[in-house]
Amino acid sequence: MADIAQHTPMMQQYLRLKAQHPDILLFYRMGDFYELFHEDAERASKLLDITLTTRGASAGTPIKMAGVPYHAAEQYLAKLVKLGESVAICEQIGDPSTAKGPVERAVMRIVTPGTLTDAALLDDKSANILLALSIEKPIAGLAWLNLGSGELRVLEVALPGLAAELQRIAPAEILVADSVAAGEELGGFHVSRIAAWLFDSAAGRTALLGQLRAASLAGYGCEDLGPAIGACGALLDYARKTQGQALAHVTAVIAERPGEYLRMDPATRRNLEITETLRGETSPTLFSLLDVCACGMGSRLLRHWLHHPLRDREVLAARHAAVAVLLDGEGSRKTLGQQLRRIADVERIGARLALKTARPRDLSSLRDSLGLLPAITAAIPVGDSALLSDLHGRLACPADCLDLLRRAVQEEPSVVLREGGVIAAGYSADLDELRGLQTNAGAYLVDLETRERERTGIANLKVEYNRVHGYYIEITNVHAAKVPDDYRRRQTLKNAERYITPELKVFEDKALSAQERALALEKTLYEDLLQRLAPHIDALQRIARALAQLDVLAAFAQTASLSNYCRPVFSDEPGIAIDAGRHAVVEGLVDPFIANDCRLAPTRRMLLITGPNMGGKSTYMRQVALIVLMAHAGAFVPARAVRLGPIDQIFTRIGAADDLAGGRSTFMVEMTESANILHNATDRSLVLMDEVGRGTSTFDGLALAWAIARQLVEKNRACTLFATHYFELTRLALEFREVANVHLDAIEHKDRIVFLHHVEEGPASQSYGLQVAALAGVPAAVTRAARRYLQQLEQSQLNGGGQNDLFAASAAAPEAEAPEDLLRDTLQQVNPDDLSPREALELLYKLKRLE
Ligand code: ADP
Repeated sequence: MADIAQHTPMMQQYLRLKAQHPDILLFYRMGDFYELFHEDAERASKLLDITLTTRGASAGTPIKMAGVPYHAAEQYLAKLVKLGESVAICEQIGDPSTAKGPVERAVMRIVTPGTLTDAALLDDKSANILLALSIEKPIAGLAWLNLGSGELRVLEVALPGLAAELQRIAPAEILVADSVAAGEELGGFHVSRIAAWLFDSAAGRTALLGQLRAASLAGYGCEDLGPAIGACGALLDYARKTQGQALAHVTAVIAERPGEYLRMDPATRRNLEITETLRGETSPTLFSLLDVCACGMGSRLLRHWLHHPLRDREVLAARHAAVAVLLDGEGSRKTLGQQLRRIADVERIGARLALKTARPRDLSSLRDSLGLLPAITAAIPVGDSALLSDLHGRLACPADCLDLLRRAVQEEPSVVLREGGVIAAGYSADLDELRGLQTNAGAYLVDLETRERERTGIANLKVEYNRVHGYYIEITNVHAAKVPDDYRRRQTLKNAERYITPELKVFEDKALSAQERALALEKTLYEDLLQRLAPHIDALQRIARALAQLDVLAAFAQTASLSNYCRPVFSDEPGIAIDAGRHAVVEGLVDPFIANDCRLAPTRRMLLITGPNMGGKSTYMRQVALIVLMAHAGAFVPARAVRLGPIDQIFTRIGAADDLAGGRSTFMVEMTESANILHNATDRSLVLMDEVGRGTSTFDGLALAWAIARQLVEKNRACTLFATHYFELTRLALEFREVANVHLDAIEHKDRIVFLHHVEEGPASQSYGLQVAALAGVPAAVTRAARRYLQQLEQSQLNGGGQNDLFAASAAAPEAEAPEDLLRDTLQQVNPDDLSPREALELLYKLKRLE
């Protein structure tokens, strides 16, 4: 690009500002538009589908530009941020009427995916989180901030656990030092690279202490943290810069400790379809089912609770007790719901107050919401719930704050401060006087009209005002001859002329300046009001948190009542006992849903689940995990009765999705997830294994499934639900007393198959592959051919020999010998030459039936 001095003065200004933000789009305010230039214009025109034009030239080259109207900027910003773009917003800060050369401009804020606070740019139901990650091998330090609530958290984890933590926290944007190599765990996240020195932990400590106005971090439990504090420094710096503001609402830091939450690995979060289905949709999921929350704050907390199941049973028991009380009081629950539905997003308004970006309507809805608190507390049925009584206390109305808002803000203020009409009458005598000048104008103008009519003798003379021409006297052409000399023409119409008189001109100047001064005063008063509200932000955040909790607990009670859930009981005895459990989501989709029990205990640690495809195996396994998860979020659960021993983690290995983006095959994914489980599951973990071994050849698959199952029983000693189509595995029950077989059944009816969905003790008795194939629409000719082939296989097996040896050998698999070799050997005895592995396996099923 040419030397900067060759450009027009405006372009020089633009280029200087752009140089400070080379990597992100710059929205450059020009009148009623934000304009983008050069490469920015090209990029934005593609991303936003807006017209790219060229205008004039600067330094001899035409300027490419694209623009969006100021009033519609938010929708464009929302779109850009969704696409992962960040945008620097440059405003005119000087006065155009006095500026020499281009009006002064400055970047006032930067919109990035993780730092949104505008109501228009945020999703009501999910929190927007900015996370900074500092890696000092073997430790990863994390610090994350929800700007919409001011909540700041830090955590240090060993590197292998990083991916799981990132999935749990689900940040909208991750800050990483530019020196850190892109790791697999960052895949799928929006990553912003910043300078490595920003992560310095000593500087971070100083920044954090300054932010908290504290002398030591010990009181926050983070004295011993290193990389996490460095990350915190980078985070605070970035957040401040993007907001162009101090973060007045960030007043505490919470240090998370490993073990606080029931651990779930990324695969488990996906497989249990907590907030997203496996297809990536938002419903039907556990969240979409349970989210009958009345306000956005409740929905966001519910999402958080579902992704952060607690291990602290006292806190959970308190939540369950509160749900029980709310469940009993249907009347008060209804009233509560009605009131909560009218509540505005106090949490986010509080944040905007802190960031000085609150708008007039934020203040009026805050006022109206605070006004509802007495009705809400009155509707809380405290009963014998300590938690509800605590919430009742925390929802006391902050009288000072409410009083200030009532006095200061008009009943229905205008949307933007610029138009005035925000500050209430009676709040400022000066403002009232200036406004008085404008309202008294009416009387003055009527008076002037009467006087001028008398003076001129024109009966239809009119004194009027419009925005373009200001005040004028209108006289129809018939009376043109009577117009006095001191009338000056302002505008000519077809049948009339419009005039101004010296007196009217004086009045006009006064009125317009009163209006201008009133607007300016209102702006000052508004800024002052935001200052005066600042000391209340803490109280507002507390109220917001209490409202959110109350909303979620009421929602839990609501679903429990509608869908007949029970209160789970925790016990110190290890194991899981579920009576008549249901799958929370599937039960709403099929009718009737068959309830099933589940018993897991130290003496019955693994259930091997067999049965036909479509029989309900996965549904059964998932429902057990979901019940455990819901109980640890504080909710009631879909069952007749549930007793849960201590549980530390939930693992799932379900489904066989190719990780195409990550370039890993189905089998690789399956084995990676299995390896993770074998390394980490404990005797307090719940493990779901669905069809392990499916992704590879029959022999490998069976062998691996066999070995994995044994390891889980013998070494991990985890509570395991193990669904398999390898019938051989059912033999593990003979070997281990802790392994039990259960199966899902089906009956054949006129060449068709009817699934019973009922979990019974013992192994399945049949493989229903062909019937399921028919059900799935495989042509009858094909299933007939398959049936014939099966018969041939059976026949050849009967004519062969060695089937007894086969099972004898398999049942007594000696420890030392790998199961895979064992199977190969035994199968060779059956049929040395003819059969493919697949056929051999079919044969095994058939053999089992003959047995
Ligand atoms: P599998 O894992 O054995 O192939 P699924 O668990 O996927 O079977 O279940 C297949 C379908 O059967 C489900 O989509 C659901 O419609 C139905 N189903 C499963 N469990 C039940 C149940 N307990 N009661 C009623 N229908 C069920």
